[in-house]
Amino acid sequence: MRAIDLRSDTVTRPTPAMRAAMAEAELGDDVFGEDPTVNALEAEVAARLGKEAAVFVPSGTMANQIAIRLHTRHGDVVLAGQWAHVLRYEGGAAAALAGVQIATLASGGLFDAADVRAAIVPATNVHWAPTTLLTAENTHNTSGGRVFPLERLEAATGAARAAGLATHLDGARLFNAEVATRVPAARWAASFDTVATCFSKGLGAPVGSALCGSRDAIERARRLRKQLGGGMRQAGVVAAAARHALAHHVARLADDHANALRLAEGLQKLGVPVDPWPETNMVMFRVADTMGFLRAANERGVLVLPVDPGRFRAVTHLDVSAEDVDEALVRIGALLDADPGLRPRA
Ligand SMILES: *Cc1c(COP(=O)(O)O)cnc(C)c1O
Repeated sequence: MRAIDLRSDTVTRPTPAMRAAMAEAELGDDVFGEDPTVNALEAEVAARLGKEAAVFVPSGTMANQIAIRLHTRHGDVVLAGQWAHVLRYEGGAAAALAGVQIATLASGGLFDAADVRAAIVPATNVHWAPTTLLTAENTHNTSGGRVFPLERLEAATGAARAAGLATHLDGARLFNAEVATRVPAARWAASFDTVATCFSKGLGAPVGSALCGSRDAIERARRLRKQLGGGMRQAGVVAAAARHALAHHVARLADDHANALRLAEGLQKLGVPVDPWPETNMVMFRVADTMGFLRAANERGVLVLPVDPGRFRAVTHLDVSAEDVDEALVRIGALLDADPGLRPRA
């Protein structure tokens, strides 16, 4: 029985065409700035995001943490949505490496301008730490891959800029937002000083992220990348995969979004509530017994991630077809029939 892996869009394997692009990549020493494939990728992703320059880094975490270092000093306050990746899923790096405090904004991941204004404490005497950076996440991971409404996002960044804050967008899945809304990634990025995006999520590359911003900011980012041990040598091998992903795997994110809807509709039919309704490639659903469901699903080769008690995440991606979604639904239907106690109570 083949496992259907819906835990994350990071589990994809490079396609044969991507592997061919990697094998054929022209290489050099990127720490000397001499890897033509890395240089081409950086120019391409900067253009896609409407920024002057970009730096290729090993992970989205490093891209975000370099951005925090760029925009802050030790002891500053950084504003982020509740359950932001920069706060919850980066190993405490913002505190450990940048020495900043993160204050979370009241309305969850998709906050508004009033939340930003309410959170900023003017540093008018020695008690107050300066608030110097706003970060936002689009799409928003823990709320189920939701898209940040554009007007709300731009009002929030406007409020931050008016108060003198820098702005950083964690766009690990920014291309999912682009495809879901037809609003270009550059438009989403326009009100931010820096933008991070991942090639290793829905785009299907094996590793790599980019941090984009002004020429000056990215020049400083290169030194911070070196400090963090992210200076890679013949990195064109992996940058080639990222270039291939940018060229061939963006438009097809629409298939992942369609498959997420297919999965959501199927789960609802099985009596499994889906909330929120998927906007991109994530499906959040509820069952009665977290560990019981996880065990039964794993036994039947359906891999999903528990996110809260009674709540699971399933993510569609390059290695999951519509047929795989249908097969996963058949297996989930069978396990619910075998153990009705797993079905959520109405
Ligand atoms: C995955 C992800 C990142 C980056 O994670 P890495 O595993 O370090 O590449 C950043 N932000 C969000 C919202 C993510 O989902």
